[in-house]
Amino acid sequence: MFKGKVSIIGSGYVGATTAYTIMLSGLVSEIVLIDINRNKAEGDAMDLNHGISFVSPVQITGGDDYELIRDSDLIIITAGAAQKPGETRTDLLKRNTAIFKNIVDKILRYCDNEPILMVVTNPVDILTYVFYKLSNFPREKVIGSGTVLDTARLKYLIGEHTNIDTRNVHTYIIGEHGDTEVAAWSMTTIAGVRLEEYCRICNRCDAKKICKEDFYQQTKNSAYEIIQKKEATYYAVALAVRRITESLIGNENSILTVSSLMEGQYGINDICLSLPTIVNGKGADKVLELPFNDEEIDGLRKSASTLKGLAANIGF
Ligand code: NAD
Repeated sequence: MFKGKVSIIGSGYVGATTAYTIMLSGLVSEIVLIDINRNKAEGDAMDLNHGISFVSPVQITGGDDYELIRDSDLIIITAGAAQKPGETRTDLLKRNTAIFKNIVDKILRYCDNEPILMVVTNPVDILTYVFYKLSNFPREKVIGSGTVLDTARLKYLIGEHTNIDTRNVHTYIIGEHGDTEVAAWSMTTIAGVRLEEYCRICNRCDAKKICKEDFYQQTKNSAYEIIQKKEATYYAVALAVRRITESLIGNENSILTVSSLMEGQYGINDICLSLPTIVNGKGADKVLELPFNDEEIDGLRKSASTLKGLAANIGF
């Protein structure tokens, strides 16, 4: 079986935890960690290497020299300034765009083989768009982790409430990974039936139905809450990135809400945001235009226009 080389730029909370989850997965033969803080990347690589005898063979290196990323199949960017307590994702934009441009420039020197580029750094949709514009790569090769994490958060809440295995809950958060994201309740199913129908069958709670607004708010605001409590979020996002990596490296054709360039879907053009997308070895291969209801499509368009405003603010 083909096993790829994955490079992770930024060996902070998210980058190092992502390296750990990908290492455990046995998906790849090589992991590279790059950080401006060379000691951190080197130290993380050493620490991970000391666990290699417990997992499938994998070569792990770390440093600050971008030459190490040459011939990568996938490059994941987690570098940047992290969200501070009380800071919105959009407040991060100006700080991270400057860092990001510098990183993109260095990455592109080692991209002759046109690897897939995955952005995790926030605000992820804008930075995915910036990366797409600066790289001139085909649209499917530049993706953001988007709302894969948010979708998992909503699935968890519904699974907890209904006492059903989260993997049997199907739902999507679409649009921006952030304040304007949209919960696609019209596409939410358990055991093949719409949520409202399942609530009638389930009959577990007094309300006899899920409080959608409460679950949406919890999903949207959980990053702020976790950051307030422990400075950063990293376990779940690292698992989300691992899941996307699995679909890319394994050519799985999984449907995931990654962020990618919009080309006319629901009348939205020339900005990156998340919609259910077929993810395979080509990258974000096909963005699905599913029959969301009018309210959801309206929310999606508002999300797109917010993102366009932010991109314009930084000259993109
Ligand atoms: P962190 O501060 O722990 O790590 C960031 C790392 O980037 C640091 O090690 C830093 O040295 C490095 N870095 C900074 N500038 C660099 C440069 N020019 N080149 C190379 N490395 C550089 O932060 P974190 O908690 O790991 O978060 C990283 C990013 O991930 C943030 O933008 C955060 O908001 C984002 N994030 C995204 C999601 C998501 O779902 N998309 C979820 C959680 C966090």
